[in-house]
Parts: sequence; structure tokens; C-alpha cells
Amino acid sequence: MRHALACLFAITTTVSMLAAPTAEVLRVRDWRAKNEKQILAELFQLISLPNLAANRADILKNADLLTAMFEKRGFAVTRFETKGNPVVFARKTSPAAKGTITFYIHYDGQASDPKEWTRGAPFAPAAYKGDTRVDLQSISGPIDPDLRIYGRSTSDDKGPIIALLAAVDGLASANATLPWNINVVLDGEEEGGSPNFTPAMIANADRVRGDIAVVVDSPRHPSGLPTVYYGSRGGASAVIKVYGANGDLHSGNYGNFVTDPTMALAKLLASMKDDKGNVVIKNFYDDVVPLTAAERRAVDEIPNVDQQLLEEFGLMRQEHPESRIELQHNRPTLSILGLEAGNVYTGTRSAIPGSASARIEMRLVNGLSAAKQLDRLEAHVREQGFFVINQEPDAAMRRTYPLIARFTRNAGGYGVAKTSMEDPRTVTTANAIRALDQRLVQMPTIGGSLPFSTFSDTLAMPTIGLAVVNFDNNQHAANENLRVGHLWEGIEIFAALLTMQK
Ligand SMILES: [Zn+2]
Repeated sequence: MRHALACLFAITTTVSMLAAPTAEVLRVRDWRAKNEKQILAELFQLISLPNLAANRADILKNADLLTAMFEKRGFAVTRFETKGNPVVFARKTSPAAKGTITFYIHYDGQASDPKEWTRGAPFAPAAYKGDTRVDLQSISGPIDPDLRIYGRSTSDDKGPIIALLAAVDGLASANATLPWNINVVLDGEEEGGSPNFTPAMIANADRVRGDIAVVVDSPRHPSGLPTVYYGSRGGASAVIKVYGANGDLHSGNYGNFVTDPTMALAKLLASMKDDKGNVVIKNFYDDVVPLTAAERRAVDEIPNVDQQLLEEFGLMRQEHPESRIELQHNRPTLSILGLEAGNVYTGTRSAIPGSASARIEMRLVNGLSAAKQLDRLEAHVREQGFFVINQEPDAAMRRTYPLIARFTRNAGGYGVAKTSMEDPRTVTTANAIRALDQRLVQMPTIGGSLPFSTFSDTLAMPTIGLAVVNFDNNQHAANENLRVGHLWEGIEIFAALLTMQK
């Protein structure tokens, strides 16, 4: 109890020592209030461009528009060509700069089916208040912050680009002298795992590197509070295919006689996790680096949203009742993302399939490597009695082994990234955001994966993650949206970062 009180006192003291929004931020707020329609018009223009990474012609149109938008603000813009889509790099220097901030934001978006959208369309953005469509042109006074703009990448991740540009505009109109040079790195392949991003950053390290990297992606914490994060998860995945007979067989004639590969696969999958959600694959958690005392404290200070999430997802309980979601983000996962065997809803035949497959995904945390975790998974399959191969079985194998599984590792995916919450430069950055409304969620890591490690590890920069957008933004799904109030707050967050003292 004494410890808790001491902690509370420490937090209160820290908070009261922090300033309210700075004069520059308040001037940016005023500028925004006078230019709301213009800011949203630019967002609509950017959202109207389709941005699926696989469509290079579309992506280049985005790169062209972004180049024009940054050049208009006095940035020097270049493109780093890659084997895939270009990285757009914009730089603006300040005569008074004592250092450089490097922002990372991505401009590509996930695929979307317009038929699933009930508000606007992926590339025909629209504003709504609740269920009612709103014509922005008809608004004469301030725009309601509870309006939401619907469209692909409004939140993930084009909205933050517009917020950054508006902050630059607002600071220019206030004649603010920026203590930072600004580097902006715009990735065109994030949703596909950024396969060419790190090589492009290594090749251009001297231009990209700054004193601090701010990785801008992902939604705020579900509490709705301003959110920063200090790491992101890595990924590893594999497909396991289990074999039965060398073709589908009549279930009446051969049921009870031939191996049922779907049953064998189900037993194999069931052997991987216990009833409390713990993965029971040998050594699965061995190398996990536990949270530091500061990280644990940061989690304890985050509002607990477990019940809110269960309500939203229509669930009675979480898999691990004794561990809140932010702590689960610091444990590796093992999930089945897809199963395939025979037919369930279409073309139903009375046949036992010749094979059954599962796609397994593991999210990794600090201390874990993809190769090692996949080795552990493969060893587990072997321990369950399977002969493990990496190609289709031949006739001799089929006659030799009772159980055969093909194990295919999927290459690529992001590495694990973790930075210190106590680095002086990340502390300064977090404090600049906290000063805006005295509250800040600090997540030791987010659940998702990003090219965070390109900055924190490859470029060895102090790195912090910034979540600007509303958590209920439907990113990656239909009806992706951005709440206007979050866009306004995002502008102020960027203004605070661009004017923070070193
Ligand atoms: Zn994103």
C-alpha cells in the first residue's frame, strides 16, 4: 500500500510539473479551427487514390501526390527506388535545428471489397455523423469532432500524413522556429510486410538517420487516450499439411480403414495449447525477456479495458482470465489462421479427404527469433509421431510412415523490436505528447507488427511508436474510418513534437 501511494505521488508530481499545451500548439489549434475544411479536402484527395501495394500504377499516383503535397510545404522530396514500390523521402531543414526527427508513415493500404462497405466506398471518402451522411460543404461553422471520415487508409495510415502536413502548415503560419529538421519516410509496402524497406533504409542510412525516430502507425489504446509504444511484435508462420490416402476415398467403403488426415491434424493442433491458453510446445516461452519494472509500471497505469473488449467482441471471458490484454501483448502467440480439408458448405461429397492443412501464425516478442520458434513448432510435430517432410510425399514414404506432415515455413515477416522506455530522447518525446492533456498510455509493445526494428535496430536510433487514430477505426476491414477529433488531436501531437526542446 505504501508502495502504491508512493507511486501515485510520483505520478502526480511528474504530471503537475509538465506544462499544458505550449503557445505554439495553441496557435496551431487556432490555425486548424480556421482551416478545417481545407485540411479535410486534402485528406479526401489523398484517400481518393487507390493504394493497394500490388498495383504499382496506383501506388505511383500516390507517390506523385505525396511528393506534391510535401514540396508545397518546402520539403525536398526524393524517391528511394526498390525492387517493389518506392519509398518517398521528404526532408525539411530548419536554420535553428539542433537535431533531426525522422517520422515513418506508410501510404499503402489493405485490399477492400466495395460491396462490403455501407458508408462511403474505399476510394470515395464520405463523412458521417452516426448513421447520417454529412455534406461537409454545407457546414458553415466548426466541424463536429465526432464526425467520422470513411475510406480506405483514413486511419491506416494516410490520416496521420495529413495531420503531420497540417501541423507543418499551422507552425509556418505561426512563424514558429523549429528546433528540428524533419525527415519523413513514406513506405509503400507496409501492408505486404515491407519486404524492400530495410534494404532501402540501409542504402540511404545517412539521409534517413536522425536523433529520434517516430514510427506512426496503429490505433490508440482502446481507452481512447493518447498512446505511444516502445516496440512491436515479430512474426513467423508455417503451413502444416497432413496426409491420408493418396486420394479422396468413399467414406462408407473406407471409413474406419484409412487414416483420416483431418482428425490427425485436429489432434496435432489440439496438442499445441492447454485449456488455459498456454502453448505447450517445448521451450516455447524459454527466451522471452520479461518486462522491466518500468514497463510493468507503465502497464499498471493503463486503464483496464478487458471488460470493454469482451463486450465489444461478444465474448463471455478471455482465454487467460488472470492476465490483462497489455500483458498478453508481451507473450508470444500461436494462432490457427486457416484450415482446409474437404468441403463443408459447398459440393458436399461423402468422401474422406486425402489431406488436411492448417496455417499457423506465431507473433513473437522480445527475445524470440522466427527461425528458432519455427524449429520448436516443427520439433513438436515430430514429437507427435509425424514424419516431417518439406515436399510432397512419394509412394515409398506413404508406405513407410503411419503419419506424414509437410511443414512449410513462410519467409519474411517483421522482426521483433523493443526499445527502452528510459532513453532520454524517448522520454522527452513522450513528455511532449503527455503535456497536451496530461494523460498518456505507454505500451511496452503493441500487439501488431511494423518495421519498427528497421529504425531501432538496423539504424540504431532511439525509436518510439505513435498511435494517433481512434481504436475503433475498422482498419483492414470494411468501413475504415477516422474520427475528425482524432485528426485534430493528431495535428496538435505533431506540432508538439516538432517544437519540443531537445
Ligand atoms: Zn498501418
